[in-house]
Parts: sequence; structure tokens; C-alpha cells
Amino acid sequence: MDNQAEDAFPPPGAKAYHGARVSVSFEAARCRHATECIRGLPEVFDPAARPWVRPDAAEPETVVEVVDRCPSGALRYALPDSAKPSG
Ligand code: SF4
Repeated sequence: MDNQAEDAFPPPGAKAYHGARVSVSFEAARCRHATECIRGLPEVFDPAARPWVRPDAAEPETVVEVVDRCPSGALRYALPDSAKPSG
């Protein structure tokens, strides 16, 4: 069986929030509530809003930077093919 789950987006158990230029997934079971995301980019990660993740509310580079700061791996991102650097 060809299992590519490591690279799957969204990962198993995570919910995906799709934006035009970047998508973000969130796996609640992994979240340690360190609030790196909320403090880092409150316009994108707002637990009081629905949906609580709005990937288009900031530049994709900034979203990626903050997602990378998530200490638990609960947040992941995916770029559309058109946004991936070529070469
Ligand atoms: S940065 Fe990661 S662990 Fe912290 S609150 Fe956000 S999703 Fe949860």
C-alpha cells in the first residue's frame, strides 16, 4: 500500500482552512495552547471568530512564519502549486 500520510494535507485528524494563497491545518488534539499563533498573528488566528483561522488575512509568508513557530505541530500549512517557488 502506498501510504503518503506523512505528507498528506490536511494531516489525519486535522481540519483544513483554505485560503487563496496559503492553506492552514489545525489538529486540536496536538495543540498545547502555547498561543504562539494567536500572539503572532491575531488577525489570522482568532479563537473568538468563526472560522478561527483565516489564512487570507495576512501575507502568506507571514502565515507560514507563524505556523512554523507552533511548538506542538498542531498547525501545518500548504501552498497552492502556483505559489510554490519554481526551481
Ligand atoms: S501555536 Fe500551536 S500549540 Fe500554540 S495555540 Fe497555536 S496551534 Fe496550539
